[in-house]
Amino acid sequence: MNLLFIISILFFLLFSNIILLPLPLNQYAYMLARERIKQYDRGVQAQNNLTSKEKVVNLYLELLQANDYMNTKNYFYPSRPIEKVFENITKSSLYQFLISLPKGGNLHIHESQVLDRKLLLEHIMNSSEYDFLYICDQDNCTTNKYYLNYFKSNPSSEWTKVKGSNWTIPEILKRTTLTGILNNLETPIYATDTEGRWHTAAEYGVFDFYGDLVKYNVTRFNYMKLVLDQALEENIQLLEFRRGLFGSLYYLTENNTKILINPTEELDLLLKFKKEYISKNPKLIDFIFVIYSSRNLLKEQIKTHLNNIINLHRLYPDFIRGYDMVGEEDQGHTLLFHSDTLINAFNYTSTSNGSFNFLFHSGETNWPENHIPSVPDDSVSAFENIYDALVFRTHRIGHGLSLTKRPDLYQYIRQRQIAIEICPASNQILGYVADLRNHPGIVYHRSGIPIVLSGDDPGSFGYNTLTVDFYLATMAWGLNLADLKQFAWNSIQYSSLPNNRKIEGLQKWQNEWNLFIDNSYNIACNQTYPNLTMNISQILPAYGPTNRSINVTVFGFGFEIAICKKIICKFGEKETNGTFIDLNEIVCPTPLNNSDLSTVSISIVIDNKIFPAGYDYKFISSLSVIDDESLPPLIPSKSDKFVIVNQKLIITLLILLFTFII
Ligand SMILES: [Zn+2]
Repeated sequence: MNLLFIISILFFLLFSNIILLPLPLNQYAYMLARERIKQYDRGVQAQNNLTSKEKVVNLYLELLQANDYMNTKNYFYPSRPIEKVFENITKSSLYQFLISLPKGGNLHIHESQVLDRKLLLEHIMNSSEYDFLYICDQDNCTTNKYYLNYFKSNPSSEWTKVKGSNWTIPEILKRTTLTGILNNLETPIYATDTEGRWHTAAEYGVFDFYGDLVKYNVTRFNYMKLVLDQALEENIQLLEFRRGLFGSLYYLTENNTKILINPTEELDLLLKFKKEYISKNPKLIDFIFVIYSSRNLLKEQIKTHLNNIINLHRLYPDFIRGYDMVGEEDQGHTLLFHSDTLINAFNYTSTSNGSFNFLFHSGETNWPENHIPSVPDDSVSAFENIYDALVFRTHRIGHGLSLTKRPDLYQYIRQRQIAIEICPASNQILGYVADLRNHPGIVYHRSGIPIVLSGDDPGSFGYNTLTVDFYLATMAWGLNLADLKQFAWNSIQYSSLPNNRKIEGLQKWQNEWNLFIDNSYNIACNQTYPNLTMNISQILPAYGPTNRSINVTVFGFGFEIAICKKIICKFGEKETNGTFIDLNEIVCPTPLNNSDLSTVSISIVIDNKIFPAGYDYKFISSLSVIDDESLPPLIPSKSDKFVIVNQKLIITLLILLFTFII
């Protein structure tokens, strides 16, 4: 019994991730402990795996970030309403850098809400459709005021023909995008008033204004081309569109009769369009669809809807890849409410060989499990959608904000590799996370849960790019190149593509990534800093053993002049090669074979230019490092590669065990 007990303890010690830190009894032990705890951080570990070129680009990214932190510290964009700061963000050099970053896929976008309304209107105004574009600008509109539509014959008097009127694109945008509307409200809606922001979007018809335009068969395919062109411009190669059931596309006859095109005809046209587009733009991996129902529909309606979707999936299994429920979760039916229908559909998903998955919007709520049903005839609160999404084996989680209150679920999500679709700008404009520095996305990512950054409804909100989400996350969360690379990789790995297409997709993305790194590396290496000098503020440890080489960290600023350069550290007259850690840290190994117990001055040499540290380093005879401080054991995960164990302790235990056995 005792033997078994000891063996189990030994196994626990060997295979659990216990981190042991030296006690900070001297500067050397303090810096060892500091390095160990830092290396336990996933954000630091990931950077170790970057290639040498990527490490240079990572420093350049850090420099661009640092400039924006300095310039925006008193008006930090990720903590200000996006509707106020979007224009400024696009002028930033970091934003320009991020535009060309290969982002992989944009996996959470609502098809008709993606494209910048400005681009759509510009396109229409340069086409023959301009001749029959109308806006409802009178108070007796039966649609939302400022709704846009096509009429080939004269409509009733509330409609004004846009061509030849006073309506300009900026004036239309002010009234038909959420940022335009929010910026023109007499009484601003508070940044955390989720209900108020959703209500405004619904009241004005933000998600509907352009609905009839993009269902017109001519505009529809031009719209699609513009969406894909825009995606490629910001280096997005895969799009997973959420959309309603096919069947609303129409032709318009000369006497203004709308003739609906049936879903299979529309899908065939789309497949043909896709084939032609990819043959001209081979960089694009694919675009696919996830079909949704509104969560507010009745149970019977959802049942019919899902049956139709499944029937369509049977015909287009490579094109239609899943099912979702959409609409404001706090005001709509829960997954439990619709569970009978979902149970039936789950039978289909589980036999579809992975070609048809649930991908639920779930946890897009700030409310805790408040025991108040989201709608009166529902049984549970919106919070519980997260449980049901997991029960129904959701392929990814849309938003997942409520998970921040349930860290015990992280291990399950991590083990099942369920990615979370994070939409920072959307979460902010709809009032869920006013200050993106506190967005839970970074917590999920640093906990080892795969996340992907997505745009949600950028066109309806009033902008266009996924780059804005990348900018906000990079600045708000202090992301490095390894993080951004991981997000891009995740967006293909956890997409709804079949596995063989993922391999092809990852290869296409890798090609773009390599080009981006080569190009960014050249830009980083060609920077000059004529008026900058390297300032060293501290060195640690300032003393260390004489009989072996240890790492001395040089802290300071102005280190960007060393990007892409050889860093030489001088200890007196002896030289070693320094390593860039980040813009404020360079590590200098002490020289070997220094038998003198001496004190030497430290300096850094870049391009033959000497920068004295102004600090001395002392070689001393001995230093003690005691490794007996431990943190509580952490839960091991698949992606944990870093295990620190106290070798002395394990050897002692092994000897003990051996003694016990004999
Ligand atoms: Zn969404």
